[in-house]
Amino acid sequence: VANEKSNLLLSLLQAEDRDYLLARMQPVQLPVGTVIRESGERPAFAHFMTSGLTSIVTVMADGTGTEVGLIGSEGLVEAFDIIGSTLPPTRAFVQVEGSALRIRFSDLEKFMTMSPMFLQRLLQTVQCQAYILGQLTACNGLHEIEERLARWLLMVQDRLKSERFYLTQEFLADMLGARRTSVTLAAGSLQHSGIIQYRRGHIQILDRGGLQDAACECYPIVRDLLTNQYQ
Ligand SMILES: [Zn+2]
Repeated sequence: VANEKSNLLLSLLQAEDRDYLLARMQPVQLPVGTVIRESGERPAFAHFMTSGLTSIVTVMADGTGTEVGLIGSEGLVEAFDIIGSTLPPTRAFVQVEGSALRIRFSDLEKFMTMSPMFLQRLLQTVQCQAYILGQLTACNGLHEIEERLARWLLMVQDRLKSERFYLTQEFLADMLGARRTSVTLAAGSLQHSGIIQYRRGHIQILDRGGLQDAACECYPIVRDLLTNQYQ
């Protein structure tokens, strides 16, 4: 059952701010593949994730995409949409089945003008996400597929708080902006080293320390940015 304690951002608000929002929220289930917000559209609702994982991806004309954001039960899917009225060139969709507390976007915008503390908390979230996005853009351009895969699996584990999850190969390749074959090779190499077990999309992290050693320098940077989001 979704509740305010399972979203970190909501849990850090002042009690009266949280109560105001909760009174206007509904729990929603999010099956895999659910499009939470389409590219080119203003969101009708804001989603505070309470379980599962949502990816923000760029959408190219040929249907390919690359991940530019990853939101679990720590955050708000529409964080960038709150800054202004520019239409997003990205799609938000559910990558690992989960749930969220949702509120009408207009109610959220109204409350941002009512509570400076809430606004400050949201802006901190947006700032950290923007810095994470910059780091990951550089990472995808400069670092090898195996260390990017290790970095990404650690990010997923941090957000899901689970060592086991299911992801299709297409998802994996899209998320890393890589070819399926190179992702399969990289996953095979991590598996050969005894760091992960990977079978038809079912991933189990066996050795988190080994995964951290295999990841590029970007992992500790984005992990610390995520932590900063909530300080
Ligand atoms: Zn990197």
